[in-house]
Amino acid sequence: MSKIVVLIATGGTIASTEDATEGAVNATLSGGDLLARLHDRPEGVSIREEAFGTLGSYALDLETVHRLCRRIAVALEQPEVAGVVVTHGTDTMEESAYLSDILVASEKPVVFTGAQRHAGEPDTDGPRNIGDAIRCAASEALKGCGTVILFEGDIHAARDVSKTHTSRVDAFRSAGLGKLGEVDGGEVYLYRRPIQGVHIATKRLESRIALMLLGLGSSPEYLDFCLQNGTKAVVLAAFGRGNAPRGFADAVRRLSTHNIPVIVASRCPEGRTLPVYGRDSGGSSLAAAGAYFSGSLSPIKARLLMSALLGAGVTSAELATKFREAVGTQV
Ligand code: ASP
Repeated sequence: MSKIVVLIATGGTIASTEDATEGAVNATLSGGDLLARLHDRPEGVSIREEAFGTLGSYALDLETVHRLCRRIAVALEQPEVAGVVVTHGTDTMEESAYLSDILVASEKPVVFTGAQRHAGEPDTDGPRNIGDAIRCAASEALKGCGTVILFEGDIHAARDVSKTHTSRVDAFRSAGLGKLGEVDGGEVYLYRRPIQGVHIATKRLESRIALMLLGLGSSPEYLDFCLQNGTKAVVLAAFGRGNAPRGFADAVRRLSTHNIPVIVASRCPEGRTLPVYGRDSGGSSLAAAGAYFSGSLSPIKARLLMSALLGAGVTSAELATKFREAVGTQV
């Protein structure tokens, strides 16, 4: 008996072609169009297509991706469904995949994929990626691994993966941690399993979470602006271990006293944050001012984790503990 995989198409380059009149690439193709372009359909799998949208992933928002996650969950609740494939733009794929990872409570595989070369290009990477993603979604090996991204043959955990190249087909890396496995010759090979599964049940995502990438000598005045404009939390993509330019510790203290949490993540793609350095706005000063640290979770994903925790109504009193449990840090 063949396995059933649900394919949810959202748009992205994989569903795009060039519009000659406009001179631009736009997403127009449905999931059915994508399936019709597969080179070889994986054997023993029947595919149930569900339309979701034809948007570039840069145009998605948290509410839409939350709706997508609910659709994934509903599909997986069907006993006959083995897994779900989501076709999605690469720009924010790691974000939607991470939200699916923390919001969808199912042991069944969820596999995001896309393309870097659009469907009108003779060497588009879309059909191969979809075929491999379907193989992953139908695979017993990927049960319990959470949401993954399949791209150019590699299988990455949603928590760990980032888009690291703007245009090449080999665009995704799990820096410092490595991929989970790969698809080779139509077979799924899993080398390791993620152990950091987190599940958050929430009816909404909080969108007012600011993310600030720090540069040499950046001014903390943006944090004071956040204090006034209704921002609910701030994530700093800080230096190295989690340090910031002068003045940030005082600004963090001002936010903390107003119950606006500040998360220190690192702009380094590898390694963990830790409060080590003291004076000025070194990590220890930021921690003393009330900031908490994201460990190895990237700034982009720390923002999404906060949006889920705050959306779920976690109170200020519980927030630090819940956040630390979710990222596996003590600080
Ligand atoms: N612009 C596209 C998007 O994110 C990029 C891609 O799909 O590769 O939707």
